[in-house]
Amino acid sequence: MRGKIIKGIAGFYYVSTVESGTYACKARGIFRKDKKKPLVGDDVEITVTHEKDREASIIRIEPRRNELIRPAVANVDQAAVLFAMRDPNPDQLMIDRFLVMMERQNIPAFICLNKADLADSSEAEHWQEIYRASGYEVLICSAEKGQGVDAITERLRGKVTVVAGPSGVGKSTITNLMQQEIVMETGSISKKLGRGRHTTRHSELIPLDHASYICDTPGFTSLQLPDLPKESLENYFPEIREHASGCRFVGCAHIHEPDCRVKQAVAESDISAERYQSFVRLYKELEEQEKRRY
Ligand code: GDP
Ligand code: ZN
Repeated sequence: MRGKIIKGIAGFYYVSTVESGTYACKARGIFRKDKKKPLVGDDVEITVTHEKDREASIIRIEPRRNELIRPAVANVDQAAVLFAMRDPNPDQLMIDRFLVMMERQNIPAFICLNKADLADSSEAEHWQEIYRASGYEVLICSAEKGQGVDAITERLRGKVTVVAGPSGVGKSTITNLMQQEIVMETGSISKKLGRGRHTTRHSELIPLDHASYICDTPGFTSLQLPDLPKESLENYFPEIREHASGCRFVGCAHIHEPDCRVKQAVAESDISAERYQSFVRLYKELEEQEKRRY
């Protein structure tokens, strides 16, 4: 039988199968020998050892499409960076940090701003404007009012999505809504797949249906940028990367240099001033990190 590892606790891997629900699995010794450790998100083949106890063995791990380090999950399709319009207010530098982390790991990302009911619609449009040139989609929703949740559900369908964001922005509320929505549609999800509050610090996939998963990772609020040479930061801001080759100086940092195409694009509003500000702040932070190291 084939399935997907949705969590790992104390040597057991919980594998969700389309045919018959979730099994608690041990990995066979072969994985230890090969130094290949199963990861949450792995697609695996299992063989049932005790049907009554819902136990099985993992006998094969399918090749991974990718492997995220933070959070530790395999086969991730995309990331949702989830913040709220209010309560707590969006922190743009934090949003941009998450986006850099995802760019760095080659994971396409989009932004969700929840609690739209607490702010003016012009404010939501302002956020969409900030990210227009970057190519990141900004979805606006209100879980409380049930607005915009359908569009998010559509965005998640058939994919494994890691969700990044601070607590209190409405992650649990949105997840519950989406589970209900998909359950009503397919009627196929078992009660066992439902979840309570987090009790572990491990990565875990929350099944929405048998092809759609959310990876909710406690501790994925880390603010530290991974070790990154400041010169490469531009590669992780799509709209800055796009203009960087037009600068006069090779190795232009886009901060104080003359004839800088990036600064010109900011002046002409082809790059948003807010995004450029995040770039400069993160650049200086990386510079400080490097100074401390040497
Ligand atoms: P989490 O920590 O990200 O999982 O956030 P929760 O889902 O627990 O939500 C935090 C608080 O925000 C709760 O009191 C929710 O009722 C509230 N909340 C969630 N979504 C909305 C929304 O769209 N509008 C408003 N006004 N409150 C919301
Ligand atoms: Zn430049």
